[in-house]
Amino acid sequence: MSSFPARAVVDLSAIRANVRSLAAHAPTAQVMAVVKADAYGHGLLPVSRAALEAGATWLGVAQLGEALELRAAGITARVLTWLYAPGAPLDQAVAADVDLSVAAPWALDEVVASARAVGRTARVHLKVDTGLGRNGLTPDQLPAVLDAALRAQAEGAVQVVGLWSHLAFADEPDHPTVHAQAEVFAEALALVEGRGARLEVRHLANSAATLTAPALHYDLVRPGIAVYGLSPVPQLGGPADFGLTPAMTFEAQLVTVKPVPAGQGVSYAHAYVTPGETMLGVVPVGYADGVPRHASGSAQRPGGPLLVGGRRLSVAGRVCMDQVVVDLGPGAREREGDRVELFGTGASGGPTAQDWADVAGTISYEIVTRVGGRVPRVHVDPEHAEPVAAPQVEGAAR
Ligand SMILES: *Cc1c(COP(=O)(O)O)cnc(C)c1O
Repeated sequence: MSSFPARAVVDLSAIRANVRSLAAHAPTAQVMAVVKADAYGHGLLPVSRAALEAGATWLGVAQLGEALELRAAGITARVLTWLYAPGAPLDQAVAADVDLSVAAPWALDEVVASARAVGRTARVHLKVDTGLGRNGLTPDQLPAVLDAALRAQAEGAVQVVGLWSHLAFADEPDHPTVHAQAEVFAEALALVEGRGARLEVRHLANSAATLTAPALHYDLVRPGIAVYGLSPVPQLGGPADFGLTPAMTFEAQLVTVKPVPAGQGVSYAHAYVTPGETMLGVVPVGYADGVPRHASGSAQRPGGPLLVGGRRLSVAGRVCMDQVVVDLGPGAREREGDRVELFGTGASGGPTAQDWADVAGTISYEIVTRVGGRVPRVHVDPEHAEPVAAPQVEGAAR
């Protein structure tokens, strides 16, 4: 077991249950579990395997290297990757049977060249920018790239298997752009199918649309954050409202507990000053471990929430690189070594990643994906628990 005094415990049973729940929300579509960014900080390989066991048939990753890592680990499910720069080793992706997004004219040229070099047909998903204004072919670029792709298909270099897009306001289901993007997507589909492409999968829905917009499910949904049990639409409902359970619990051990007098300035710049005689606790995780510095606490504004001995407390003073301080209160009974929960399932009053996001002015996605590389990920699996629990510790190298 790692000597690091904190860990991110990832519940693979929760991942499976979340994937089943998402599949039930989208009964007519396949599920692509989006496992980019080390499965949103939860551990690429264990999460990918759990998602596939629960019925996901595709995995989605932003980076080529992540796709190759899945293949190197022996995962044979369909994998789509969508962000690469000119000169990327697409031949490796083609050889590894990875589906490739084409989001710009140059990308098709490089995919075709790689397929010819490898001597194998590359499966391509044309990405259309239906209004997000980010990655993807504009509707004006689409016809020419489509024609070039269909010529390459006739020659056997590529197979156009997908058309896809991404929403700008999926987390606001009633926003007019959702409907507008859906219309542009439908027009692009009509064009692509009208010119003879036989698409295997049309896909548009991220977590928010999977949960709130059944009309946008098409053949495949691409949930990310919901796989990890966090709500993509916190203003509309928490995880439990959508049948989801947060999979990651971030916990640490108190390394110091000590009495201090009233008026003690706490942590850098003394942003918090003890109002009376009290006990301070030191929690050995800081912004290098993903604790947002914007969740620092002061007398005016409590910092990020902490569950200590069943009590909900908060970060006192500045979040440092490696540690935060908590005011345990006078007469606190905590001892060095006691467990502090930064976030978890939210059961029994504990804080959640969403609570941290609210304090730090961000989204839960950023809280979980930023848990630092040196924090060990410990994967537990109560559903498949062996008689003697043997948590699987992933290296802290990620
Ligand atoms: C990250 C991502 C997703 C998943 O988004 P969530 O909001 O986490 O469900 C889906 N599609 C694309 C293109 C993405 O980049």
